[in-house]
Amino acid sequence: MINVTKTYLPSKEKLLEKIDRIYKKGWVTNNGELTLELQERLEEFLGVKNLLLVSNGTLALQIAYKVLGVKGEAITSPFSFVATTSSMVWEGIKPKFVDIDKDTLNINIDNIERSINKNISAIVPVHVFGNPCEIEEIQSIASKNNLKVIYDASHCFNGKFNEESILSFGDISTLSFHATKIFHTIEGGALVIRDDEVYERAKLMINFGIAGVDSIKTLGVNCKINEFQSAMGLCVLDEYEEINSKRKRVYHRYYEKLRSSNKVTLQERNPKGSLNYSYFPVLFKTEEALLKLQRILKEKGINGRRYFYPSLNTLEYLKYEKMIISEDVSKRVFCLPLYDSLDMKVVDEIIWDIESI
Ligand SMILES: *Cc1c(COP(=O)(O)O)cnc(C)c1O
Repeated sequence: MINVTKTYLPSKEKLLEKIDRIYKKGWVTNNGELTLELQERLEEFLGVKNLLLVSNGTLALQIAYKVLGVKGEAITSPFSFVATTSSMVWEGIKPKFVDIDKDTLNINIDNIERSINKNISAIVPVHVFGNPCEIEEIQSIASKNNLKVIYDASHCFNGKFNEESILSFGDISTLSFHATKIFHTIEGGALVIRDDEVYERAKLMINFGIAGVDSIKTLGVNCKINEFQSAMGLCVLDEYEEINSKRKRVYHRYYEKLRSSNKVTLQERNPKGSLNYSYFPVLFKTEEALLKLQRILKEKGINGRRYFYPSLNTLEYLKYEKMIISEDVSKRVFCLPLYDSLDMKVVDEIIWDIESI
């Protein structure tokens, strides 16, 4: 069975060495040495400061809203994974959807300004499939209207914008380190926080607000990562360049063959951004064509994924407001299998099947 992605499992021997360290120390969570080491190594590898590891990418978003005092309504994209919106609703914030651009698949900045009202306190854009949003324009709208910016950068591990880490933009950028993502800690996530004081408060918030023995400084929850997760993260990070170069080969094979296809179109990438080979989405002309390819592949045991589907403005727990482009795109977008050990023969077969529908 071939799925859209396959969890990368690093060398078992290396992982056991790390686990030995945990056993020797007898310390399994609460900022253990592996967690601190992973945090430091990620900051260095990604070229950022104030990176805070948490237990998943959804809680990273929730902590971001909380620590920045986001209230009322927040502008966001209807074309994302459900967690971008559900995390808001869970925190009592009303999502104010702004439709996307049909080519970049990111929030359309021309629509942002006219959606701002007195209840809006933040903009929560998503760098969809690792494609950077129009960061400078979003920042200028936010500054003019005194709004916070939180990027859901779950797809942007090691992404760059103008040669800088894409995670250094916005008040906070959040990451997901779920097992299906290109870098993972089984379950996990992180916040990258611009302001030092906000970073210090977020650190307290993820551990019940505890500042030290007998001292509770703020309202908090528990979303700490543990030493076993960090052990996995350290091992995956060691092998990351190798994994990524293999993913790059698969990505380019698809790209070379499909960029001039008349069956599908590809996402228009921001020229200021880099590629991290995390996803390979294709857009069919119709939903019928997508379903036909899905059927053909399924018969061979190959599963792509309708990602993102459905458009989040159609969620049953929200009041429906039409988003023409997001609804249309989510019916026609399909992510092709992409992972390091994917056989090139399978890649060629998928390409052939797309061209034959
Ligand atoms: C994966 C993902 C999340 C959620 O992260 P978890 O670690 O699974 O909680 C949020 N937003 C986007 C865009 C994602 O792809």
